[in-house]
Amino acid sequence: MPPTIIVTSKNFQDGMATLDFARILTNGKLRDLVPTPTNTPANITPIAARINYGRWIADCPYCTGAEMVDPNDPVFYCLNYNCDRPNGNAPLPVQFPIGRVGLENALLRRPRMQNRNWFPYETLADLLAENAANGIN
Ligand SMILES: [Zn+2]
Repeated sequence: MPPTIIVTSKNFQDGMATLDFARILTNGKLRDLVPTPTNTPANITPIAARINYGRWIADCPYCTGAEMVDPNDPVFYCLNYNCDRPNGNAPLPVQFPIGRVGLENALLRRPRMQNRNWFPYETLADLLAENAANGIN
């Protein structure tokens, strides 16, 4: 059975906040590779969350990395050791879409995880049309 939720970073991190999880990693296994995040998010336009393979993620604007994110904890911290981090070690604010739950519900009707994907340029109507075209009500 596929998950009955769109998975977020908190599900993956046993409920831990994104920055707490990042601090454990950057003070542990990643100690010499990735700097520890600061407390205050960078003052930039939030980066957009998207759904990939049934997970909320955000793409790093500074490298090819992506991390899982959570709508109730909308911060992003890149854990790629090759990331430039032009904002120092500040986490980045994340924007989730208006109508998030509707988008999630449309995708949760799809039985295969690999088909649970959404990009910010797609509307709920787009997802429902894809569902209908594939026999999913
Ligand atoms: Zn990065």
